[in-house]
Amino acid sequence: MKVAIVHNHEHKSSEVTRHLLLLLKKNNIEIDDHRPDLVISVGGDGTLLSAFHRFSHRLDDVSFLGVHTGHLGFYTDWRDYELEELVQSLLVHQEKSISYPLLDVKISFHGNKPEKHFLALNESTIKRANRTMVADVLIKDELFEKFRGDGLSVSTPTGSTAYNKSIGGAVLHPSINAFQLAEIASLNNRVFRTLGSPIVIAHTEWLEIKLQESNDYLITVDQLDIYQDDIKSIYYRIADERIHFASYRHMHFWHRVKDAFISED
Ligand code: NAP
Repeated sequence: MKVAIVHNHEHKSSEVTRHLLLLLKKNNIEIDDHRPDLVISVGGDGTLLSAFHRFSHRLDDVSFLGVHTGHLGFYTDWRDYELEELVQSLLVHQEKSISYPLLDVKISFHGNKPEKHFLALNESTIKRANRTMVADVLIKDELFEKFRGDGLSVSTPTGSTAYNKSIGGAVLHPSINAFQLAEIASLNNRVFRTLGSPIVIAHTEWLEIKLQESNDYLITVDQLDIYQDDIKSIYYRIADERIHFASYRHMHFWHRVKDAFISED
């Protein structure tokens, strides 16, 4: 097995990484930063997001594992004092893995510009700088609503506890193979009307956000900011690819939600 480690710049994460590297070497596990079978992230959920994007071109060949050095995360199952146990679990090669849905993001442009394609682990948002965003929202090619407001967020089930939750989206159990559309400060009055609540869209369906022509849109894909001129539409659907986690340690999802947002006990 070949392992790559991605860590954040916190002192604790560097220390944990140093210790982990020693343990891996002691157990003859090869380190390979280019073509690993397993990517271990050391830090928080944000670190796991970075690790995902670094290796998102190899999702069929790579699994992820998260060690958290701060508070319990949604993608980080292992604690920093459990490194020995973690390395042992890699040596016995348990089949305990789990996979989660990803969001396929396709941006199309006016004129002959080629489409751009991204994968999101948490979410993708569309916003407009300082002006009201005006867009048609189509589900399965049929007009659903005309949106006016600050923007829209489209999230995966595992991303539902991130930005989506902050804007009033629902928390989705990660075993649900679907994606969620949530509004960011929609304008609702007698002239403009949207549904006004988040919606969960099936994996068999797709969403198109058709933008009014303008050159000041910002598209985000997890931590990535994309400023592009001439955007015509953004298409969202559940991706064919999934993210795989190795040596997965089951924790009751709602327990994790409670621990993160309500209380520790
Ligand atoms: P950041 O601004 O440094 O951190 C954002 C926070 O979101 C961190 O506390 C991070 O946890 C947490 N987070 C990330 N993924 C999560 C998930 N799936 N469930 C619950 N919490 C999660 O940003 P970053 O580290 O570059 O990560 C980018 C992500 O941050 C975006 O995808 C977006 O979802 C989220 N974000 C949220 C808000 C908001 O809620 N208002 C604003 C900006 C960005 P850790 O501390 O464990 O890393």
